[in-house]
Amino acid sequence: MDKSKAQQPRRDADKQDVIAAFIGRVALLAAGVDGVYFLFFLALDSPILAWINVFSVALYLWAYALVKGRRLHLAAMLIWLEAFPHAAIGTLMPGWESGFHYLLLMFIPSVAMTASRRQLQWFVVALLAFLAAVDMASQVWGPLAAIPQAALLTLKWLNICIFVVMFSVLASYYRQKITQAEKHLKVLATVDSLTRLNNRRQFESDAQAHIARFERSGVISSLVITDIDFFKRINDTAGHEGGDRVLVAIGQLLKRELREVDALARWGGEEFVFLMHDTDLAQALVVTERIRRAIEANSVSLAASDVHCTMSFGVTQLVTGDTLGSALARADRALYLSKTQGRNQVNAA
Ligand code: GH3
Ligand code: MG
Ligand code: MG
Repeated sequence: MDKSKAQQPRRDADKQDVIAAFIGRVALLAAGVDGVYFLFFLALDSPILAWINVFSVALYLWAYALVKGRRLHLAAMLIWLEAFPHAAIGTLMPGWESGFHYLLLMFIPSVAMTASRRQLQWFVVALLAFLAAVDMASQVWGPLAAIPQAALLTLKWLNICIFVVMFSVLASYYRQKITQAEKHLKVLATVDSLTRLNNRRQFESDAQAHIARFERSGVISSLVITDIDFFKRINDTAGHEGGDRVLVAIGQLLKRELREVDALARWGGEEFVFLMHDTDLAQALVVTERIRRAIEANSVSLAASDVHCTMSFGVTQLVTGDTLGSALARADRALYLSKTQGRNQVNAA
């Protein structure tokens, strides 16, 4: 089966987990905030306003329970159904000055992140209409359950503080998601999915750094290109999956044999490249010969049998005026020599 198709349900499940964690957190936070309102109105001796919040806390806890039971749509709907009427009642009873309407602004980033652009546009229009209607009603009717001026001021600032804190929490949550996505994309763009070695693109950028260092301070690097001998035969006898396991094993062996400062990558197919830092041609030949022997002596155990393989190598040292292209062309010529002279050998350009 196609691997990307096989991974799709898992990715969907991961996405569901993230959304569930988010809605769950919002529900708990909102329940906590409404708990604070309950105490606030109780202290103000406004029992109706206080009990509205008990109802809200119950709704949010219910939404939280729904999240735990993976009923995310219903949970999200409950949150919406609570927030808008609560904001309207909160604004109409103590008055517009109480600042309950600020809390609705928090829906904007949530909608922007989860809905389509068209849905967001409709949401913004609806939100503005809702705010205008509530404002107008509160102008016409005046506060339906007036509270003392000092309490109103406290309430306004309580709402502003809650809005600012929750908006910041939301913003940092989205930032965290974006950072994670960036990291994931970077791995996708720079790492070979089979061997987990760097891919060609990453190697090109590492090689530029080596070349620049060489031009600046004369630190010599040597470039090696290597290709598995008769790999087609391995695929034919061990199957494509067997071939893949050989590629992974070779990648690991190369990684073990090289240092952290060296650049190593899967160049493509059954070809690998590496750049050895601060290593001249003579030293590079010694290291490469050691690697060649290690591969020759190594075998990869597969289900049915052990697979032995050998590799051919082309080695070159960076020279003044080199680009990655020119160095690779030399290493490639040396590799060709290794292939034509019988394989399983190291040659220098
Ligand atoms: P030579 O000694 O001349 O290099 O012979 P070879 O058979 O290794 O060379 P050739 O280039 O003719 O064949 C390379 C084979 O590598 C062909 C291709 O199907 C196989 N191959 C390329 N990429 C992969 C891969 O990701 N997995 C597997 N299993 N095989 C691959
Ligand atoms: Mg080959
Ligand atoms: Mg090849």
